[in-house]
Amino acid sequence: MSDEELMQTALDEAKIAASLGEVPVGAVVAKDGEIIARAHNLRESGKNATYHAELMAIDAACKALGGWRLWQCELFVTLEPCPMCSGAIINSRLKRVVYGARDPKAGCCGGLTDLFALPFNHHPVIESGLMEAEAQALLQEFFVMLREKRKKK
Ligand SMILES: [Zn+2]
Repeated sequence: MSDEELMQTALDEAKIAASLGEVPVGAVVAKDGEIIARAHNLRESGKNATYHAELMAIDAACKALGGWRLWQCELFVTLEPCPMCSGAIINSRLKRVVYGARDPKAGCCGGLTDLFALPFNHHPVIESGLMEAEAQALLQEFFVMLREKRKKK
C-alpha cells in the first residue's frame, strides 16, 4: 500500500471514532506497506485517558509482531501526536511517523513543541501534512457537531 492508502485507512479509523462520539483520530501501523494494526481514539467509550489511536495501534502492533521493538514499522496518524503518544513512538522505536493535521494545542512534533528535537536515543523520521485537509475537516465537523449538541442542551 502507498502512503496515501495507509493514511486513507487511518482516516477511515478516524471516521469510526467520530461515529462513536470520539474525537476523530485514527492510526495505522504498517510494515513494508502492509497494515499490521489499525485503531481509533477510544478515550470516551473506554473511559481511559491513554486510549489514543496511536497507543492502541502501537499496542496491537506489538501483540501482532510479538515484541515491543517496532523499528521496521511506520505509523500513519491523522493528527499530530500528543506528548504521551510521542513518548510511545520513541519507546517503540518506530522507524517513521507520518501525520495529517497539525495540533497547535498538544502536538509534540512541532505543533506546540518538538519532542523529537531532543537528544533521545531514538529518532524516527517525522513527516507532516499528508491528507491534512481531510483530517482537519473531520475534526472541524466533529467539533461543530459537538457545539450544536451542547447548545441544544
Ligand atoms: Zn496521544
